[in-house]
Amino acid sequence: MSNLSKKTQQPLSLIYLDENATTQVLPQAAAAALSTMETLFGNPSSSHITGLQAKQIVDQTRQRAKLIVGAENGGIIFTSGATEGIQTAILSALHHVKKTLDKNKKYCLLYGATEHKAVPESLKHWNEVLEINAELKAIPVNEKGQLDLEFIAREVPNALMICTMAVNNETGVYQDIKRLDKTIRANNADIGWMVDCVQALGKTDLSLAQTSIDYAPFSGHKLYAPKGIGFMYVRENAPFTAFIAGGGQEGGLRSGTENLPGLAALNVIFKMLTNESEYTFTPVNTLHLFRQQIVTSLRKVFPDIVLNHCFENSVPTTINFAIPGFSSKEIMDLFDAANVRVSSGSACSSKVTRSFVLDAMGLPAWQSESAIRMSFGPAMTQPQIDETCKRIGLAAQALEQNCLMLDTNPIADKTELEGLIQFKVGGSCSWLYVDKKTKTALFIDPLPELTDRLQTLLACQRLKLIAVIDTHGHADHESCRGSIAVEFLAQQQSDSLGWPANALTTTIEGKPYQYIVLGDKWLIKVATPGHTNDSISLLLCDPIKAETEQLLVHYAFCGDLILMDSLGRTNFSTSSAKAMHTSLQLLEALIGTESLICPSHDYNNEFTTSIATETSRNSLLAQVMANKISVGDFSSQKATMDKHIIDESGSEIMCGALIGNCHKTTVREYDSASLAEAMKQPETIRLIDIREPHEYTLQHDENFATNVPLTRLVQFVQEHQQNKQEKLVLVCRSGSRSHLAAQALSRLGFEQVGHLKGGYALHQY
Ligand code: PLP
Repeated sequence: MSNLSKKTQQPLSLIYLDENATTQVLPQAAAAALSTMETLFGNPSSSHITGLQAKQIVDQTRQRAKLIVGAENGGIIFTSGATEGIQTAILSALHHVKKTLDKNKKYCLLYGATEHKAVPESLKHWNEVLEINAELKAIPVNEKGQLDLEFIAREVPNALMICTMAVNNETGVYQDIKRLDKTIRANNADIGWMVDCVQALGKTDLSLAQTSIDYAPFSGHKLYAPKGIGFMYVRENAPFTAFIAGGGQEGGLRSGTENLPGLAALNVIFKMLTNESEYTFTPVNTLHLFRQQIVTSLRKVFPDIVLNHCFENSVPTTINFAIPGFSSKEIMDLFDAANVRVSSGSACSSKVTRSFVLDAMGLPAWQSESAIRMSFGPAMTQPQIDETCKRIGLAAQALEQNCLMLDTNPIADKTELEGLIQFKVGGSCSWLYVDKKTKTALFIDPLPELTDRLQTLLACQRLKLIAVIDTHGHADHESCRGSIAVEFLAQQQSDSLGWPANALTTTIEGKPYQYIVLGDKWLIKVATPGHTNDSISLLLCDPIKAETEQLLVHYAFCGDLILMDSLGRTNFSTSSAKAMHTSLQLLEALIGTESLICPSHDYNNEFTTSIATETSRNSLLAQVMANKISVGDFSSQKATMDKHIIDESGSEIMCGALIGNCHKTTVREYDSASLAEAMKQPETIRLIDIREPHEYTLQHDENFATNVPLTRLVQFVQEHQQNKQEKLVLVCRSGSRSHLAAQALSRLGFEQVGHLKGGYALHQY
């Protein structure tokens, strides 16, 4: 973005705390790699001088590798990385046992439950390819991540191979190799044993030849060498089958011309490990102090922090933790904004983000779902750790300023809330409306996951909650209305959904409606049964001055009556499609076709909708609104529609069957160059950063002067209902939130909305 205009904000330098994923190549290693490309570029198989020089690098690196892993009498073969080593080990062991399999016996393949996916997936692959047909069994771990030795003792006699890991990549937990060795060999003297040593290199002492480990794969890119180079220790006389055949390099064990640049870089790293270099790594006891220093800083600002592993049995370079009330995505976004790279320490599935490693350790679900991993390596320095701690403090300050965490600073130091905020948990929504002038707030469809956040917000913003209301009794999730009401509205009398007993009454079209006052707005309650018989809609509107006046509705919180691309299901015991038909027509009569609808679900990241938008894609709704369908026909079509509700067996009960017309609109995608070009044009472009305020506070591009967080997008739409022609370009961290928001705005009628593809990640400050 540097070609857009001058920045005023000083960019923060990068702190990289994701070294269990991969590391930066150290300059000394990179220089050695470059030299093999430019000068010592020979083929180690050539017998001329250039080839001999290249071969010397291979030989030296192999000697040093032997020394480092304690492979006195075993062999070292160079590979492309650990995944290749894992294949080679598994192929070798299984190919060997295949020859002597007893067809009448049931065999298993054992692997640790917290193993890197490369291990079980490769076992599965070779088990199928070699037609071994053994059962794959995960060895359980205890809450400290240690393998269950009794399980191993029981299962290993029938196993064809056992795969364990030296150090876990998510938690840094190491295994007691000596005890494992004893247990395995006492119960099966010949079984092939692979130990994935990827995360152990440079972090723990390895004396592999002192053990009965058969195969130990390693990877260069986890310790400051480039990607594409790795090596594997193979015990003397261990069965071996070449995974790659060809020109006979590596003594025929692994063919293909050697990766000389990678080897030269690895050689430099090895020299540092063997203290033969002028450059040295940080000693292990100092690394322990570094970890402690980071944890102390984290604890100072996040006193509730929970560590997901013990320090007594993990290497000092990994910290895996969870902060109550914050998802791992939120913390990652926060640290990314502070230019500190951390990892979510978990594997993404389509819906839930959680760590199978922490699950295997039996940690509570919330810890697994909100796990954050900070990892560094032995090249870490004291100034970098000090800077890390400073950034942790800055990140916490940003959370405090935006009331995601409580502190004792005065309200004047806070970014004050005003208007509508949308909270989402999975596909469900809660809505908070704040009237800044009167310092009052209203919470609709409260989700239990948000209780703490709401409490913090109210206390921090000094807001008085005047009501917490459910639009209906939710079948898919618990409401936390009760607990919030007890804490903030102890004196208030209300009905079973939280509607206050002291509400006033007004008349619209000759009919009485109850309402409560919130600053200069009214919240009117309308009974809209259908989805359930207790369903209500809540209309936030301007006060009614004359009975005949058309309501000016800002937001219609209609629960599960109209969902985006759907109608609420009507197949519960208290549902009635007939009642829904009436409720839909009543809602349209009251709010018109353009008012914003804020449902209690948003399954497709559409944020908000209107009757006009929905009738244009939902023909059933369009027919109801145009009075072109009988109640009977509506009911039968509704019954058919409800048969298509998906995902009931999964983690979420859907509250309406999606019609399938939520096709994403195409929005203009900019890169730095096209955006700079567009900004030179006479037409004004409004650049909007749509990250959350705490991320924006930490750092943003000065060109993106407006901050419209995704949680306030609906309010932005409301405020711009009469001005949808403006040219907008949205940005976020990676381009994914900005894309969603741009699509939503475009669907809601914004005519010229685009986003910066790849976000700040690809267009750095
Ligand atoms: N095993 C462990 C424990 C790892 O952390 C990784 C890398 O993430 C691998 C195996 C795979 O290594 P490579 O990327 O070298 O194939």
